Amino acid sequence: MKFLSNIRISHIIAGILIIAAIIAGILIYNEPEHDKLPYNQFLQAVERGAVDKIYLSNSDRIKAEYKDGKTFITDNPRTENFKEFLLTQGIEVVEVKEKIQGGQVFSAIITLSLVGFFIFAINRNVSREKQGKAGKQLFNAILPENVNVKFDNVAGNEEAKESLQELVDFIKNPEKYTRYGARMPRGVILYGSPGTGKTLMAKAIAGEAGVPFIAVSGSDFVQVYVGVGAGRIRDLFRKARSYGKCVIFIDEIDALGKKRDAGLDGGGNDERDQTLNALLSEMSGFHENQGIVVIAATNRLDILDEALLRPGRFDRHIEIQLPDLKSRLKILKLHSKNKPLDDSVNLEKLAHQTVYFSGAKLESLLNEAAINAARRSSGSIQAKDIDKAFYTVIAGAEKKDRSTISEQDRKITAYHEAGHALVTKLAAPENRVTRITIIPSTKGSGGFSMNIPPDRMYHRKKEMESSIKIALAGRAAEELIFGEENITTGASNDLEKATEILINMIRRFGMNDKSGLLNYDVLYKNGFRQAQNDVLEECKNRMDELYSEVKNLIEQNMKVLVAIAENLLKYETLEEKDLNLIIQAYAEAV
Ligand code: ADP
Ligand code: ZN
Repeated sequence: MKFLSNIRISHIIAGILIIAAIIAGILIYNEPEHDKLPYNQFLQAVERGAVDKIYLSNSDRIKAEYKDGKTFITDNPRTENFKEFLLTQGIEVVEVKEKIQGGQVFSAIITLSLVGFFIFAINRNVSREKQGKAGKQLFNAILPENVNVKFDNVAGNEEAKESLQELVDFIKNPEKYTRYGARMPRGVILYGSPGTGKTLMAKAIAGEAGVPFIAVSGSDFVQVYVGVGAGRIRDLFRKARSYGKCVIFIDEIDALGKKRDAGLDGGGNDERDQTLNALLSEMSGFHENQGIVVIAATNRLDILDEALLRPGRFDRHIEIQLPDLKSRLKILKLHSKNKPLDDSVNLEKLAHQTVYFSGAKLESLLNEAAINAARRSSGSIQAKDIDKAFYTVIAGAEKKDRSTISEQDRKITAYHEAGHALVTKLAAPENRVTRITIIPSTKGSGGFSMNIPPDRMYHRKKEMESSIKIALAGRAAEELIFGEENITTGASNDLEKATEILINMIRRFGMNDKSGLLNYDVLYKNGFRQAQNDVLEECKNRMDELYSEVKNLIEQNMKVLVAIAENLLKYETLEEKDLNLIIQAYAEAV
């Protein structure tokens, strides 16, 4: 608010700086404006052989010089092989460092105008705030008729789609829900690895509901100057309200919603706090059931500020997973629809070869293959184009990328998860194993098995012990199959869970023969210091006993374990009915 008093003077300074910059710019750099050309027309021109020279830089645009001397600007596709592609077409490629060159004078001009612009931008924002008028629009909505994405365009993630269907219905018919007194969800967080289709999914929600889609990125709101980000948030919601119903999508929500005490700048990032608070207050300021929903995306749910996740804010969290075999095939089919595939291409085989690929990576694989085929002018995309693209995409992947997980690691994960599933079925048949998978989720290392224990108020001793056994079963299977020296760190969460349950049984619930009904916390408070060591001792003994029982159980059913693991390696995901079939087949054979 300090700025308010200075508006006049700083406006004048900003004006002078900008005018000076413009005049200097005109004097030094007076190349004419270039015509813009859509990228596909540019490609056609390349094919015709009409293009002579390309000026390539780091910017979003590239300049093309035609053989007849005309110049055009078109989009920079930023693909890895673009330069090579141009060269093979006999086009001269000139690499330009900066967008336009002009030496030091030019950088000075840029600096001057940037400073001027910033002063201007801040003032504009502050004064706009004061007058409550919408200024130039920062956010553009895609109107419903142009959204063009539906749930059908998102392959896999059926569970996520199912729960988002309800949201679509809410947006379409808020009145229906109001009548029943239901409150519309305001914020949904989609979380999962990069490229899994979170943006696509958000867009599909708008597409299904037939409302405008406004997409922004969290980083757009994190500015150097305090107050700018918050002002932009208010602009965003003002804009959204002007549409009535709509979907607001905030990508990289962590840029502004990271835990406040996290990181080196701990405790004091005013700008981010203000921006976050503005977001939260805008969200709680919605009229009930207005038909605006905010969908945010992040790669990691665990680093978000709790304030964001509270009820009435982003209280729905939906994981978007890496695609398994079936989904990969769907994605490949979806993205090859408009591409001339040769008969030599076997998409099913390709789906098998692309374990741990995200949807985005599969899409880029097919795109690279198409570029390869186009470069050869081969008429169709052949298996060798795909092979070549495969290595380009893998080589371009980050080092720690999941798609480089070794075959051995896959095997360990498969046995580990098979162990959990088998012991669940044997030790606690009342629990359901809804799904096992070896596709990693953001939550854990390997895959996971989902148990849904029946809801009960009291937990029985037998159930608690079964839970411990299920938790230990992953490690036990690893040890039995790969030997003691090859056990992995994959069981750390399991051990945490098992220890937690066991300690409670012994310390608080009187469920241990040796300690009987004594409560160890009370003993300790009353000066029986030895109690601490006793708990440790008893926990260790009991855990060892349970672990041996689990190992015996698995050993007696080794064939089933192997069968589950092998099926996991083959299909990656098993539904409950698949698992039951495998187990049944062996039960009958015995
Ligand atoms: P994220 O937002 O999770 O990083 P995007 O939505 O930006 O991922 O995905 C990038 C592109 O990858 C999409 O535009 C689409 O072409 C492709 N893609 C990713 N996941 C899928 C999917 N499940 N089905 C179809 N295409 C997908
Ligand atoms: Zn486990």
